[in-house]
Amino acid sequence: MNRRELLSLLRSTDPAVVSELTEEAGRVRDQSVGKAVYLRGLVEFSSYCRRGCTYCGINCANSRITRYRMTDAEILGCAEAIQSYAIGTVVLQSGEDSFFTGPKMATIISAIKERTGIAITLSLGERPAADLKLWREAGADRYLLRFETSDQKLFSKIHPPATIPLPGRIEQLQLLRELGYEVGSGIMTGFPGQTCASATDDLLLFQSLDLDMIGIGPYVPHPGTPMADEIGDITSDDQLPNTLATAYKIVALTRILCPSINMPCTTALRTIDPAGYREGLKAGCNVIMPNVTPLDYSERYDIYPGKKRVAQFEQALDLVEKDVTDAGCFVASGAGASRHYRERSGR
Ligand code: SF4
Repeated sequence: MNRRELLSLLRSTDPAVVSELTEEAGRVRDQSVGKAVYLRGLVEFSSYCRRGCTYCGINCANSRITRYRMTDAEILGCAEAIQSYAIGTVVLQSGEDSFFTGPKMATIISAIKERTGIAITLSLGERPAADLKLWREAGADRYLLRFETSDQKLFSKIHPPATIPLPGRIEQLQLLRELGYEVGSGIMTGFPGQTCASATDDLLLFQSLDLDMIGIGPYVPHPGTPMADEIGDITSDDQLPNTLATAYKIVALTRILCPSINMPCTTALRTIDPAGYREGLKAGCNVIMPNVTPLDYSERYDIYPGKKRVAQFEQALDLVEKDVTDAGCFVASGAGASRHYRERSGR
């Protein structure tokens, strides 16, 4: 598909376009990576962040939330629990928290690797190159860093620059690849100011970055964040709608354009649609990340409101399994590196 065709699909309001694209994406997923769905246990270990992203509830200016940091032992305990449920990957996620220095994170990573052997995915934001290298050497396998939008002017508006020198997001994605990580990125869809034209460029950027994993998260407004307050001021004539149909359309187009990647059903998708796992899988996703963070912490990881969570992890897994089966797929065991990564890295 060329740029003009993609743009026309994104601007279309015809519901048939969404169903045709999701059906096609499901077929592409089946042919390219099969019906296996891999689980990753998500651990949100710190809600401290030095950045001021205008859409995010844990941005540094939000003084109305109670922040937390999990201890090393608590993080390790979560990784062991993940292993005990036969889930092959832990995803360690936090704000950009300088308390977790390069060496401190490296100690946690090597302890998890030593005790469990499971794959480790990091989602820790923009970090110095030396830290990324250290963590890879300590045993980290994957890194997630969404570029959110390819429109640099818009990105600077929603993601004010850091006060310390850091590699830019695209530069960091390239660096992660050179360091041998399996590299994931993604975007937010439907936020104020994002146009259909810029979302088309996002899809093309996915292709040119040659990513291994891509996550699509619909914008969930968080009351009290600068973006939620400004909403009327910054929309445009070509505004990308903040609708489920748009989110699924972009998920489907991503799978069609990048057939051999891994694609998670994002937490944001599940937040705005109770059937988000099932429908995301039907639209081409093949990864689900059940949340393993202790409930009293997870409730305070307030990046956006309305995150869905059941108290008992076993019950959450049963629900995931049902969604997976209802989507015509099956839960697979193991680390589940993407086919794209295996082929490009020869692993
Ligand atoms: S989006 Fe990430 S970097 Fe930005 S404020 Fe939220 S946690 Fe921090």
